Amino acid sequence: MHDTGTTRVLFGRGTVQRVGEELARLGGHRTLLLSTPGRSALAEQIRSQIGDSAAGVFAGAVEHTPLEVTERAIARMHELNADSIVSVGGGSTTGLGKALVFRKRVSHLVLPTTYAGSEVTPVLGETVDGEKATRSDPELVPEVVIYDVELTTTLPWAITVTSAANAVAHAVEALYGSGRTPGSDRTAAEAINVLGSGLRELGSDFGNIDARADLLYGAWLAGTCLANVGMGLHHKLCHTLGGSFGLPHAPTHAVVLPYAMEFNAAAAPEAMATAAAALGVEKAPSGVQALIRLLGGPKSLAELGFRTDHILHAADLATQRPYPNPRQITREGIVDLLQRATVGTPIQAAQ
Ligand code: NAD
Repeated sequence: MHDTGTTRVLFGRGTVQRVGEELARLGGHRTLLLSTPGRSALAEQIRSQIGDSAAGVFAGAVEHTPLEVTERAIARMHELNADSIVSVGGGSTTGLGKALVFRKRVSHLVLPTTYAGSEVTPVLGETVDGEKATRSDPELVPEVVIYDVELTTTLPWAITVTSAANAVAHAVEALYGSGRTPGSDRTAAEAINVLGSGLRELGSDFGNIDARADLLYGAWLAGTCLANVGMGLHHKLCHTLGGSFGLPHAPTHAVVLPYAMEFNAAAAPEAMATAAAALGVEKAPSGVQALIRLLGGPKSLAELGFRTDHILHAADLATQRPYPNPRQITREGIVDLLQRATVGTPIQAAQ
């Protein structure tokens, strides 16, 4: 089964100008714009652009969707009598938007500014008392997504690399995940291909808008993979590391992905061959790691604040409940993977 969802997607340069008309289609007359503190100027700019349809801005979104932030945003919605939401930003802002939709059932339009892909998924991860819980509900898929590449040109290089690695991770796990279809396999391969070439091109010419457009297109494809295919070990581990140890989302994906691929490689040879061909490398796990490192991405979990004395607890949390994965997951296997990822052991070229 391949559920194509009902999101209306607009793609292209300058499409941000269409927010007003899309809101009118959704019946949004008093819209609350959401952003992180860092994207508040952009949210204010869009607020002026849409004039009377804008009720206000809440610029308090942070990673991992903590409940207390959601409660403050709901209070702001009530204060402004908001009837719709526009999320302007990456996965953190979209996550807050989904948390509001879950509680208030209002319309949701997203303007993505990173490559997280949350804007096309029914998934919401929320953190309450240091534990991150995930729910999936088709009602959480935003009605409209406007991908305007011009909103991504300000994304710093370091975030560009890790966020694109986050998107690659969705596509890689879709190649061996539960519920995959021939369509999702092709989508995943295309996503890996354009994300890889977009990153390489942007690495040699930071102002290359076509490369940015490729990355955004790849992010959309990868997001649809995440929406349609059950993810495995990699996403489970990153979820644990982010939710319970406060590690930053995209950099954690960038470090862990090659190790999770190495762990699964022998049990998912076709997926690895597809990923390697799409990325234009000999072997997928070492090729992904080499590319991320070449582009200046993070090398180890230690760099992100994870300590070796966290490993056993993290392995316990990540193996608490069984979930589908090509290779059987054991506590010893996860401890070994986390030890390697914590210090950043280079993956052998034969892998
Ligand atoms: P983010 O949204 O936290 O953004 C990272 C930083 O980049 C922020 O400081 C932000 O202000 C800044 N930023 C964003 N766009 C920018 C731009 N164009 N120019 C300059 N700065 C910019 O990071 P993220 O990795 O996109 O999202 C992470 C969150 O998304 C996590 O909470 C994660 O769990 C969630 N997520 C959810 C899903 C899902 O399907 N539910 C999928 C992926 C990620």
